Amino acid sequence: MVADCIFCKIASGKMGTPLVYQDDMVAAFRDINPQAPVHILVVPKRHIEKLNDLEKEETLTAGLLRVCILLARQEGLADDGYRLVANCGAKAGQSVFHVHVHLLGGRPMQWPPG
Ligand code: 5GP
Ligand code: ZN
Repeated sequence: MVADCIFCKIASGKMGTPLVYQDDMVAAFRDINPQAPVHILVVPKRHIEKLNDLEKEETLTAGLLRVCILLARQEGLADDGYRLVANCGAKAGQSVFHVHVHLLGGRPMQWPPG
């Protein structure tokens, strides 16, 4: 746990943010500034800065993706469609440096993304 990391605090329950999912490795919660009717952030409980750092974390990487799929089904998006986004680095739009996957759904999506 990194003391000044907001996602470490949320994932450990210290912020009181409701967790929509948690297990030993992974936590998920709703984005504070949702960009779609469903906008959930799926994060490792352990502090990992960015996607690059998951290269050797096979189990955790699979776990993050699996939770996205599970939550998409629970949110009723499995047939409707949904998008997963992981911004890696500031240039790609990463603003919180604790790795996370955005689960977005409930509205039509455009391509290419901005
Ligand atoms: P990024 O820009 O790093 O890909 O995504 C960070 C996301 O975290 C943004 O969508 C932002 O709205 C969300 N976020 C930032 N701070 C908080 C917070 O304190 N609580 C919650 N629930 N989401 C946050
Ligand atoms: Zn962290």
